[in-house]
Amino acid sequence: MGQAKAYAVMSPTTPFQPWTFDRREPGDKDVRIEIAFCGICHSDLHQARDEWGGSKFPMVPGHEISGRVTQVGKKVRKFKAGDLAGVGCLVDSCRKCENCRRGLEQHCAGPVAFTYNGFEKDGKTPTQGGYSSHVVVDEAFVLKIAAGAPLERTAPLLCAGITTYSPLKRFGTRKGTRVGVLGLGGLGHMGVKLAAAMGAEVVVLSGSAAKKADGKRLGAHDFVLTSDAAAMAKSAGRLDLIVDTVSAPHDIGAALGLLKIGGTLALVGASPKPLELPAFPLIMARRQVAGSLIGGIAETQEMLDFCAKKKVFADVEVIPPAGINAAYDRLVKGDVRYRFSIDLSKL
Ligand code: NAP
Ligand code: ZN
Ligand code: ZN
Repeated sequence: MGQAKAYAVMSPTTPFQPWTFDRREPGDKDVRIEIAFCGICHSDLHQARDEWGGSKFPMVPGHEISGRVTQVGKKVRKFKAGDLAGVGCLVDSCRKCENCRRGLEQHCAGPVAFTYNGFEKDGKTPTQGGYSSHVVVDEAFVLKIAAGAPLERTAPLLCAGITTYSPLKRFGTRKGTRVGVLGLGGLGHMGVKLAAAMGAEVVVLSGSAAKKADGKRLGAHDFVLTSDAAAMAKSAGRLDLIVDTVSAPHDIGAALGLLKIGGTLALVGASPKPLELPAFPLIMARRQVAGSLIGGIAETQEMLDFCAKKKVFADVEVIPPAGINAAYDRLVKGDVRYRFSIDLSKL
């Protein structure tokens, strides 16, 4: 066993504290990664504070991991010591069910191992995430990061990147597609950059007037303040697709009104409380609401390769591990431009 240093929460109501725990030694197909940076996703906060229910403690969150390979098992083919590597929300799946065979490992019928707050495929060893010194993962679930990529800005691609890339691709984003990104946080700012890189005309839909200039800088063509009724009315019926990243209950009907006939709202934000879905904005314009969960392993690699080619990376504020508690408080207030990235070399 190798001891990993980490920051963990012991309960939903206590702050992060330093903690050590055992990780397995690399097996034949495992890759050991020294973690350089880990992004703070709002899903980490939902789970650390048990807002979705069913959280397991102690918990080391973190599923936006970037780092360097330090050791590989003797049957590993894709990686060697020294390579840059990433780990996202999944560390294993059954690899046999229909969804796994279709590259949708995130929807595996089980056993499936999420990076933390879950169990390894044995169903009993708790998984622990990237707010830690190193991680050991089967090479099939390790992503390649291009040499020279900025690791602090690449880490957030492993969740915020793929979670917005996947619905953008699925709903046909290309040159000229009109895409709205609702909520300009960690996911939202990646959604703007990725949609713009795909050639879309991007509109930021935000509740924060102060983010207007950022929207343009990130590549958006327009900005609509969702609380401004006149601006919302002017934008009605204009968008092909909305990627909804809002982390709390919000007016989904108002957003639907911005879609063209037959347009799609792809919901990725995971509000702990149900959203109200009004019938009329949906039926009167044959619109649709779809859900989307991260992305499969092959699609995550495709996204990383796309980002390397287009030079798309997250905008981050690098923090030391001791700053995680303060960062969580700021995340709740929407005070982050646009992702906290933890420097694990400071553990
Ligand atoms: P984040 O950085 O906190 O951004 C969320 C944004 O939503 C905020 O910046 C804010 O944008 C808006 N917002 C927050 N509270 C709001 C409220 N009460 N009413 C209206 N707007 C509000 O969070 P994130 O890391 O991007 O994650 C966003 C959500 O996606 C979370 O629920 C997370 O769990 C979920 N998620 C889902 C997946 C998936 O696979 N489906 C993957 C990762 C994360 P404005 O200031 O612009 O309004
Ligand atoms: Zn996430
Ligand atoms: Zn499966």
